[in-house]
Amino acid sequence: MLSRYRQRVALVTGAGRGIGAAIARRLHDEGASVVLADRDGDAAAALAAELGGGRVLAVAVDVTARAGLEALMERIKSDLGGLDLLVNNAGIIRDGWLSRLSEADWDSVLAVNLKGPFLCCQATLPLLRERAGSAIVNIASRSWLGNPGQANYAASKGGVVSLTRTLALELARDGIRVNAVAPGLIDTPMTQAMPGEARERLLRMQPSGQMGAPADIAAAVAFLGSADAAFISGQVLHVDGGKSCGLLGL
Ligand code: NAP
Repeated sequence: MLSRYRQRVALVTGAGRGIGAAIARRLHDEGASVVLADRDGDAAAALAAELGGGRVLAVAVDVTARAGLEALMERIKSDLGGLDLLVNNAGIIRDGWLSRLSEADWDSVLAVNLKGPFLCCQATLPLLRERAGSAIVNIASRSWLGNPGQANYAASKGGVVSLTRTLALELARDGIRVNAVAPGLIDTPMTQAMPGEARERLLRMQPSGQMGAPADIAAAVAFLGSADAAFISGQVLHVDGGKSCGLLGL
């Protein structure tokens, strides 16, 4: 295992399970102190217990609530001394075709998936500015290219891509790189909760016929957040088994 994160501190939102948990594990394995932030504080605490050691902080945080994020920054500063990497991973789906998509499902998806990363970028900025080589990695989705039945989700992830590209420009002079990873279909509680028919349709659209694993996304995040990617900013790395090159099986 590489050790690119020794002496570095990473905050991962939605780290209680799925892709976020895999990212936190990978960064921890590479030497980082990790802050596991999840709306589900028990899930974050369970992962912290599994990882063990003094380099892990588990906190119950809702990424849509500014006050909680500001309190978290105080805690990170006092307990871990600063922050080198923010991974905006927390996200939700509330799928529906346009004719049936409720306003509440539009608002909740945009709030968690797009306003959440905005608030987290803003809250972490003072800490990230203090560290050389700091970075933000946003978890978008291949869906930002368009996905029927996910107008709210695709729009939120398209917003994440635009946020990434714009902040890459805004924060370059602060020495902060900003990139995005756009996963394809990944085997997590989010996709396991989909109706079987929807999952089957998505699997048919996979060039390889296979889903990806959370660890596939974690490896890409660990690269983009590290010094190996020191001259990479404003990019969207699709980790989707090639699906972004065209849809199969429609
Ligand atoms: P997941 O299994 O549903 O895990 C998401 C985690 O985020 C959960 O622990 C959830 O807590 C937490 N969370 C949700 N809303 C939150 C909030 N407001 N504040 C803090 N934490 C919150 O999802 P996943 O599949 O790992 O997805 C992770 C990210 O990858 C998301 O951004 C998703 O859009 C993206 N992605 C996933 C796939 C895929 O195929 N799985 C594909 C493309 C992109 P609760 O349990 O309380 O909801």
